[in-house]
Amino acid sequence: MTNKEKTVLITKNGIRHDGRKKTDLREIRFEVGILDRADGSAIIYWGKNKILAAVYGPRELHPKHMALPDRALIRCEYRMATFSVTERKSPAPKRREKEISKILAEAIEPAVFDYLYPRSVIDVFIEVLQADGGSRCASITAAALALADAGIPMKDLVVGCAAGNLNGEVVIDLDDVEDKEGQGDLPIAVLPLSGEVVLLQSDGVFNPEQYKEALDLLMDACQTIYKLQREAITNKYAKITEEIIEPVEVEPEPTEAKVEKKKGEKTEEKKETEEKTPKKKASAKKAKSEQSEESEKKKKTSKKKEKKTPPKKDEEAKE
Ligand code: ADP
Repeated sequence: MTNKEKTVLITKNGIRHDGRKKTDLREIRFEVGILDRADGSAIIYWGKNKILAAVYGPRELHPKHMALPDRALIRCEYRMATFSVTERKSPAPKRREKEISKILAEAIEPAVFDYLYPRSVIDVFIEVLQADGGSRCASITAAALALADAGIPMKDLVVGCAAGNLNGEVVIDLDDVEDKEGQGDLPIAVLPLSGEVVLLQSDGVFNPEQYKEALDLLMDACQTIYKLQREAITNKYAKITEEIIEPVEVEPEPTEAKVEKKKGEKTEEKKETEEKTPKKKASAKKAKSEQSEESEKKKKTSKKKEKKTPPKKDEEAKE
């Protein structure tokens, strides 16, 4: 036995070791399109997790014999950096990383219109820079944003989240301590619009009631995360639109106070317009008069010509 005290995972009042309640998520933040070299990218900050997702493709697949005749191959590579966990992790890919890579690709596939790109490949690279429990769910969530950022047609985004069993209490979004010391871990991923479940794993103990409660809570949590995902992507494109489109000067609408002031007396605007219109009229008159002067001049010159021509005719007649 070590002297280390065991963490109180959840109190009788339902408060967890980090102060969260049962259904509280850790803080989640995204940045989209952060890499210039990749076709699409996103980084997710989920609690202490920091995970980068990069997408390349659709592009030609090598070796060609791996190509699928009717759709794109979706490949995923999940890697944990050597410095991502408290003890140095070996850089060689482990069984866990291979398993997570496989389930991530399978979870992403139903969201992508892969039949649009037969015989090609879409590569998704996940780099876990810092891990703190729930990294597979955070990875799926970031990968979906990176795919959307790459402009790959998708029928939905993908959102991941995990539930856990802490001393018989079902909680949402386990951190590393809860993941290791709790009695159960239930990660899922869903397509948030359709509610289709694209990943469901279970580790530890859940009775049927706890299982049902966990799934219900997870569905709600996924919708919350989906809103953040959408915000992240719309913010990115709003910024681009701001940069591309020149700001249009819009006249401020008159306030109520101004409107009242305007009642019964001529408004400054009206005065201005009145002032402006005579100027316009004057300029129009000027232009007209100039035109008429010119036309009169032309007429005169043509008359002079006419006057000049008859003598010629007279001369001819005389001759
Ligand atoms: P998930 O991150 O999806 O919860 P796991 O349940 O397999 O996946 O892992 C739980 C947590 O354990 C990880 O998020 C990470 O913080 C930690 N962990 C995973 N692999 C290692 C490792 N090789 N060394 C130290 N900690 C690790």
